[in-house]
Amino acid sequence: MSTPAFPVAVVGAGPAGLMAAERLAQAGLPVEVFDAMPSVGRKFLLAGKGGMNLTHSEPFDRFSSRYGQRRPHVEPLLRRFDADALRRWAAELGIDTFVGSSGRVFPTDMKAAPLLRAWLHRLRGLGVAFHMRHRWVGFDAAAPDAPPPALRFETPQGGTTVRARAVVLALGGASWPRLGSTGAWVPLLAGRGVDVAPLQPANCGFDVARATEDGATQEGWSDFLRGRFAGAPLKTVALRFEHGGRRFEQRGEFVLTEAGVEGSLVYAASSLLREAINEHGQAVPTLDLLPDRSADFVATELARPRGARSLSTHLKTRLHLDGAKAALLHELLPKSAFDTGAGTAALAAAIKALPLRLVRPRPIAEAISSAGGVRFEALDDATFGLRALPGVWCAGEMLDWEAPTGGYLLTACFASGVAAADGVLKALRAG
Ligand SMILES: Cc1cc2nc3c(=O)[nH]c(=O)nc-3n(C[C@H](O)[C@H](O)[C@H](O)COP(=O)(O)OP(=O)(O)OC[C@H]3O[C@@H](n4cnc5c(N)ncnc54)[C@H](O)[C@@H]3O)c2cc1C
Repeated sequence: MSTPAFPVAVVGAGPAGLMAAERLAQAGLPVEVFDAMPSVGRKFLLAGKGGMNLTHSEPFDRFSSRYGQRRPHVEPLLRRFDADALRRWAAELGIDTFVGSSGRVFPTDMKAAPLLRAWLHRLRGLGVAFHMRHRWVGFDAAAPDAPPPALRFETPQGGTTVRARAVVLALGGASWPRLGSTGAWVPLLAGRGVDVAPLQPANCGFDVARATEDGATQEGWSDFLRGRFAGAPLKTVALRFEHGGRRFEQRGEFVLTEAGVEGSLVYAASSLLREAINEHGQAVPTLDLLPDRSADFVATELARPRGARSLSTHLKTRLHLDGAKAALLHELLPKSAFDTGAGTAALAAAIKALPLRLVRPRPIAEAISSAGGVRFEALDDATFGLRALPGVWCAGEMLDWEAPTGGYLLTACFASGVAAADGVLKALRAG
C-alpha cells in the first residue's frame, strides 16, 4: 500500500498524538494516525485505572515549576494549552472534572475509558483515519529528498511505505513497553542526526544497599525484612535529600519492595535521586519516621525509664513506632545503635533522620514515565519541527522533559501535541 493523496501522518495514538490529530483535523487537513498496537491509547487507559489524574489546579507559576530544569521549554507549551484549557476540552467532550483534596484534577468518574471513547468519536467525525498494528520502523532510504521522508511501517500483512505532507511522531517514552511505547524510535531518530538524550526511568522505585554487621555492603533487604515486610507501606514519613544545590523535602508514603522502595513519595524525589546515583553511584536520603513529632519530643520519650520492658515495646508504647517502621530501623542501623547503655540520643536522632542508601533506579520498564528523549534544542524555535528532519514534528513523552505525578505528565503531553499541530499548520501555510 502506498497512500496516494498525502495526508498528515501522526505516528503514535497516545494522548499527545491524538491531540495533534484533533487539532490538525479541525483545521481541515486529512489526518491518518498510525500505531503499533491493536488499539489506541493503551497507556492512557492504564493511567485511568487507579484514577485518571488529568491535570492539577495549582496556580500557573507553581504548575510550570514542576518541570524543573525543562521549565523554560515546557512553559511556552503550557501557555498554549494549560490546565484550564485541558479541563474545558474535557468538558466539551462531555467529561466533567473535579479538584481533589490534593489539588489534583480528575474526571468525575475517575476513569479514562469514557473520555477516550468520546474523543475517538469526535476524531472519527472529523475524518481522522486510524491504522492500527502499524509499527513505524524508520524512514524510507529510497525516498526522494523532498521533506518529509517517507515512513516505513511493519504490519501483519508485511511492510508498507507511507508518504505524508507532514509527520508528527508521538511515540512515548519507554516505560511499560507492553503498552506500546518501547523507545525503539531512539536509534531511528538519532541515526538521522536528531539530538536525543538517553531515556531514563522517572517516577520510579529504587534498589537499596545496607551495611551488614561485619561492615560489608550488601544489596537488597535481609531475608527477614523481605519475607515479612515486602509490600508493606510506610506512612506517614518525610524524605529529605539534597543534591547539586537542589533540595527535596516532602512528607508522604512509600512501600517496601522485594529489593528496595517505591511509591508516591519516592517517585516525587526520583529525578534528584536518579541524578545523584548517576553522578556518585548512590543516593542517601534520610527518612524521618515520625514527622509529626519533634526531635526533642522523640528524644525525651525515648529517654524515659522503661523498666523491664524491651526496647521494641518501649518504642511502640512511647512513640507508636512498630511494624514496618521499626523493622526498617533495625534493618538500617547497626546492632550497637540499640544498645542504650550509653543513652538513647543517637537512636532518637536516627528515628528523625534514618539514612537510606539507594544504589539504582528500577528498570525503565517498571517506571511510571521516562526522562530524556528528543532535546528541545533539536526543535526549530518557530515551528517546533525537527531541525535535522524538516517536515517531522515530535510531541509528548518522547520529548526531553520530566515531571512528577500529579497530572503534569498528561498536561505536557496534550500541550506538546497542540504545539506540534500548530507548528505543522504554520509550516504548511508558509509552504
Ligand atoms: C501506570 C501509569 C499510570 C499513569 N498515571 C498518570 C496519571 O494519572 N496522570 C498523568 O498525567 N500521567 C500518568 N501517567 C503517564 C501518562 O500516561 C504518559 O505520560 C502519557 O500516556 C504519555 O503520552 P504520549 O502520547 O506521549 O505517549 P504514550 O501514551 O506512551 O503513547 C505512545 C503511542 O505510540 C505508539 N508507538 C510507540 N512506538 C511506535 C512505533 N514504532 N510505531 C507505531 N506506534 C508506536 C504506542 O503504541 C503508543 O500508543 C501514567 C503512566 C503509567 C505507566
